[in-house]
Amino acid sequence: MKTIGMIGGMSWESTESYYRAINEGIKRELGGLHSAKICLVSVDFDEIEQLQREGDWARSGELLASAAVAVQAGGADFLLICTNTMHKVADTIQSAIDIPILHIADATAQALVTDNRRCVGLLGTRFTMEEEFYKARLTEKFGIEVVIPSPASCNRVSTIIYDELCLGVISDESREFYLQQIADLSSRGAQAVILGCTEIGLLVQQSHTEVPLYDTTAIHAEAAIKMALTDR
Ligand code: GLU
Repeated sequence: MKTIGMIGGMSWESTESYYRAINEGIKRELGGLHSAKICLVSVDFDEIEQLQREGDWARSGELLASAAVAVQAGGADFLLICTNTMHKVADTIQSAIDIPILHIADATAQALVTDNRRCVGLLGTRFTMEEEFYKARLTEKFGIEVVIPSPASCNRVSTIIYDELCLGVISDESREFYLQQIADLSSRGAQAVILGCTEIGLLVQQSHTEVPLYDTTAIHAEAAIKMALTDR
């Protein structure tokens, strides 16, 4: 079994979901007392979020690159960046290490392509929804068309992530708002909706809606399990 490298803490609420999903998956595949080999470096999200707000992506890229170097030194065979948003600096992180990054958008796109979803909605932070680093990868590399909520709704979707989900606050009102957004994206032609922020699965699950959901945390964790068990 390969050792899964993880940069977590963005937020720790979702890193906990990754840790559980990966260990449950390894146990499912191998049985008995098996558990995942993981090397995790967990950062202080307050520092990262402040740099996001200041637009200092160069500095946050440096911070995460040094975390990645530590993960590699700890024996990881490949790396998960356990947040969609910080894939904005994935190239900076990759250039600091020799082990490959298992990109969260690629793992998600593979799942969408397998299910023949060609037009999808995207929910996440305002960076993930409104900037190109994530959407363009889906479109240019995988031919998937992406629709996002209106600017005002993007703002509220993003605020709920930082002010509630990353703090462990789960509210019915916010769930209702997310479900409205999902229904709206579906009515605009989305065949499915990407939960493109690693905390959204804490708020909204498939049982809440008929619209097919692609939870990036669960998909990224499953891709990691598969990679860890390839050529074992
Ligand atoms: N975990 C979130 C994501 O998947 C947001 C936190 C962050 O800004 O990294 O994008």
